[in-house]
Amino acid sequence: MVWAAGIKGPELLKNLEGLEVNRINQLIVDDHLKTSRDANIYALGDCAQCEWGSKKGFVPPRAQAAHQQASYLYRLLTRQLDGATVGPFKYRDFGSLVSLGRQSAVGNLMGGVIGGNMFIEGLIARVMYRSLYQMHMLALHGWVKMVLDWISHSLRRATEPHVKLH
Ligand SMILES: Cc1cc2nc3c(=O)[nH]c(=O)nc-3n(C[C@H](O)[C@H](O)[C@H](O)COP(=O)(O)OP(=O)(O)OC[C@H]3O[C@@H](n4cnc5c(N)ncnc54)[C@H](O)[C@@H]3O)c2cc1C
Repeated sequence: MVWAAGIKGPELLKNLEGLEVNRINQLIVDDHLKTSRDANIYALGDCAQCEWGSKKGFVPPRAQAAHQQASYLYRLLTRQLDGATVGPFKYRDFGSLVSLGRQSAVGNLMGGVIGGNMFIEGLIARVMYRSLYQMHMLALHGWVKMVLDWISHSLRRATEPHVKLH
């Protein structure tokens, strides 16, 4: 089964006085993530529409984009406080992975990782998907919680039924 969903920002964003939004309620930002009508307000992640720069279109609403923008904004704001400037935000696409259940996944790795665009599938893609998930857990919760989550996930997998019983 393939499930697809679009995204839309909450109505709240449309009603922030004076700030410009697109038709899906994303705040329009420039290449320094400043909102178009107020340079003192920044937006990042899914709620922002940011030009891709090197490519046509906009930075995609993905976790890796939100993460890169968060790191960028942290650098920009701290350096600005020291009176320094920072160049524009540049999105680096490391590729996409889609989980296809327990045994498989598909995806593509982009230039930043392997120096070209490469399609991957099967167990390799699955292992990469799982590793990325563990890295996210590590970043969010630290080693102890990450290891506990991994153990509990493995135990659950071994004991839970493969079909819904009732
Ligand atoms: C089912 C699903 C699968 C996905 N899979 C992938 C994937 O495999 N790879 C990938 O790169 N991306 C994936 N994404 C996209 C990814 O989750 C988002 O791009 C990413 O989380 C955006 O981060 P963000 O910080 O901008 O927003 P969010 O992570 O959505 O964080 C926004 C936060 O704001 C809070 N919030 C909302 N309204 C208010 C309010 N009024 N007041 C206070 N707080 C509020 C929310 O509770 C939330 O915690 C997936 C998304 C979905 C829905």
